[in-house]
Amino acid sequence: MRKIVSHCCTLTCFLLLAIISFGQQIKSLNYTIAPWRDNKKAAASITLDDAILGQFTIAVPLLNKYNIPATFFITASIMQQQNITWQMVKNAAAQGHEIANHTLTHPHMHAIPVANMIYEVDSCNKLIDKNVPSQKCLTLAYPFGDGGNATDSEKIVLKVIEPYCIGARATRNNKLAYNAYSFATTNDEYYRVNCDVIADSAAMVDLPAHIDETIAGGGWYVPLYHGIETGWLITKKDVFEKHLQAFDKRKSEIWMTPFANALKYHKERNCATLKTVSEDNHTLVLSLTDTLSNASVWDEPLTINLNKPHLDVKSIVQGGHSVPSTKKEGTITFNATPGSEKIIITKAK
Ligand SMILES: [Zn+2]
Repeated sequence: MRKIVSHCCTLTCFLLLAIISFGQQIKSLNYTIAPWRDNKKAAASITLDDAILGQFTIAVPLLNKYNIPATFFITASIMQQQNITWQMVKNAAAQGHEIANHTLTHPHMHAIPVANMIYEVDSCNKLIDKNVPSQKCLTLAYPFGDGGNATDSEKIVLKVIEPYCIGARATRNNKLAYNAYSFATTNDEYYRVNCDVIADSAAMVDLPAHIDETIAGGGWYVPLYHGIETGWLITKKDVFEKHLQAFDKRKSEIWMTPFANALKYHKERNCATLKTVSEDNHTLVLSLTDTLSNASVWDEPLTINLNKPHLDVKSIVQGGHSVPSTKKEGTITFNATPGSEKIIITKAK
């Protein structure tokens, strides 16, 4: 009996393999998903902590001038002391900046009970979501960096905040100024994203070199600012603008995007797969899926490079939206969002 079962299994496996390999033969795709959006060599996310008045009155207009969306990690109690209104924060979000969590009162997280940690994170998330409804609060920066290192007490902080955000920024926690592309070997590393603290004149002078190192290394650079012109750990307005100019000059090589967007891209890209759903003379239908559970959060479009020299594209549509594409040396490049919406490519006649 055992022998018959074993033979049946062998035959089933053989048939399955035959079906799978035949399927792959007709449906295999030659593609890559770019490491960063639009095939840029690296990414950078400017972050500003605490909620200090000059960040909204001085930094936001400058960031807008250079078309650089940034991330504001706000502490609700400091925001009040600094006379920052929710309308100012809402306006920044409407201009494309990310508003994210830096806790309610900026405590040393590992020095307070777990219940208080939860309250600090949960209440700040809720305040942001209630007052800035155009976006969702998705990321966090640890006050004083507590939680961003792999020590036992900081691991507790990480596990407490994990259900409330998709990732978190540490303060500088390794030798590099940036995150190497391979930084997230475990999911916890998305909760320990390294940053470059811009706190003294040396860090301010080094910034352009750090951008270049990031581009050369293909990584993700996350500078951290506090006061802009006013407040504490101050970067003067003219220095901040020089930094923005340094990024602006290198924009063809570095993707400037808020913290959550770069993190989403990186995580989605590392588990996404492109497959053919169907193909005939007129249409090629593709699906882009990943293994992340909550599609409403994991919605960052990925840049696909599809090598199909004989395909001339008339149009690409995903989820009812027209998707621009380019073709160079047989490779069609376009952005697509992972999830259930199929990518419908209409062929040119
Ligand atoms: Zn802080």
